[in-house]
Amino acid sequence: MSRVALVTGGTRGIGASVCVALKAAGYKVAANYAGNEEAAAGFTAATGIPAFKWDVSDFEACKAGVARVAAELGPVDVLVNNAGITRDGMLHKMTAEQWYAVINTNLNSLFNMSRQVIEGMRERNFGRIVNISSINGQKGQMGQTNYAAAKSGDLGFTKALAQENANKGITVNAICPGYIATEMVKAVPQEVIEKKVLPQIPVGRLGEPEEIARCVVFLAADEASFITGSTLTANGGQFMI
Ligand code: NDP
Repeated sequence: MSRVALVTGGTRGIGASVCVALKAAGYKVAANYAGNEEAAAGFTAATGIPAFKWDVSDFEACKAGVARVAAELGPVDVLVNNAGITRDGMLHKMTAEQWYAVINTNLNSLFNMSRQVIEGMRERNFGRIVNISSINGQKGQMGQTNYAAAKSGDLGFTKALAQENANKGITVNAICPGYIATEMVKAVPQEVIEKKVLPQIPVGRLGEPEEIARCVVFLAADEASFITGSTLTANGGQFMI
């Protein structure tokens, strides 16, 4: 029996690497995305992994989307809450739109998505939820009050949900990536990366999406059953707690 894994924001960046790694590990994989049709079509053509469009910040859309995945692949055993955005700005200049977009996509999505799968996981006595948080949720980051608040909230959500479901064969864990070479980071000017970001990373380079995917595969495994409520940090040594 191969388990079913659903990865939000799975058609690009870290999520796409997570999908590919889970497929290689034997999972039946579904990728969700928001609306970049070209990226989604290219991803499915290259990997054979089906892509399902819905907005993770919309509860009803998540309900319908997860139902479609379950109808096509089977009930979700592994949920990877990976979809995320940035809308950076200093708080004294930040608009309400910037604030709520990030909170809704990066934090409320964890409720919207986990709520759809948790009852089934409890009934089947097995589940894995992996939440992709961020180094900036651990340490804060100037210009990212919205993002840091959401990503820090992801960590509290992870620990509380882990406690609620630990006796049901369900683990809930978080991964805090450092700076990973995806389009999200490519949006940062190259000069800022070279002069400000890289000097802070002891390993001396950005991380690769595949390096986060390996963390997800590790936490999703049946054998990782004693790891729950934990935060796995993968940041090249940039921040240690
Ligand atoms: P990308 O910008 O490369 O990809 C984002 C993915 O999320 C896309 O597939 C996008 O879909 C999807 N997405 C965005 N908003 C929504 C939404 N509302 N509903 C459904 N899907 C959505 O991001 P990364 O791969 O860089 O980041 C992935 C995760 O890792 C995020 O949570 C991010 O915060 C976190 N992270 C990233 C770091 C980095 O350095 N890159 C560092 C630390 C954490 P579409 O293609 O349709 O737009």
